[in-house]
Amino acid sequence: MRKSQAVVRAVATGTAAAGVAALLARRGHAGSALGVAAAAAAGGVAAFAPNLPLLGPVVRRGAADRPLAALTFDDGPGPSTPAVLDALAVAGVRATFFVLGRQAERYPHLVERMRAEGHQVASHGWDHGILIFRGPRYVAEQLRRTERAVEDAAGPGTLTRLFRAPHGFRGPATWATARALGYRMAGWTAGVFDTAEPGVDVIVERCRRAIAPGAVVLLHDADGWDPPRERAQTVDALPGICDAAASCGVHLVTMDELVPA
Ligand SMILES: [Zn+2]
Repeated sequence: MRKSQAVVRAVATGTAAAGVAALLARRGHAGSALGVAAAAAAGGVAAFAPNLPLLGPVVRRGAADRPLAALTFDDGPGPSTPAVLDALAVAGVRATFFVLGRQAERYPHLVERMRAEGHQVASHGWDHGILIFRGPRYVAEQLRRTERAVEDAAGPGTLTRLFRAPHGFRGPATWATARALGYRMAGWTAGVFDTAEPGVDVIVERCRRAIAPGAVVLLHDADGWDPPRERAQTVDALPGICDAAASCGVHLVTMDELVPA
């Protein structure tokens, strides 16, 4: 299910819940009606709000009293990942890559390179499937297939147990299943929207504003829906982003270093 389909389905579910609530209210069950409406509203908001803890705790920022922040890259590895790794190596920065299992299978040498260069490899699921309406079996399969692909690529212990759901969208089964498999859920403090390709200077400026002690910055080294797509603007922005962190005295680290388990 793509993002747009998930949104349509969520609106349909919300409309149906509103209908049930209205029916209950008409029949004099005002309390129940309010409950249904409130639960539907809360569930709907939480599903699309990556950082709300309503559907389970989310790791989204580090301590504000230490000068550390994390750059994170979703959806790879892909065609631009080597250039992202090159730019990080030049800047001496280690980051966290939320990889798709499907992409790890396609580019095993890039997963190996991430690990060899000291980056954290974390999970973004197998194929960017939206999880809001999915049950435990589907969520577990997304996580397990990704573990196998990453470990086949770069050995046991490569995949750290940190999971960022595609778009941050979660359903009732997402957190419970991830936790049962030993994962923490990850969010972010600042989305840069680099996938909209707003221009290198805009990406750098958004990062400059976002980078502060404890910040988790969301970038992309690939595209969850369009795997061959390149991320040239993100690559070209990286020297400026790393300079911006250095100039405000913030050291860029992995998410496990920023928020130890
Ligand atoms: Zn993604």
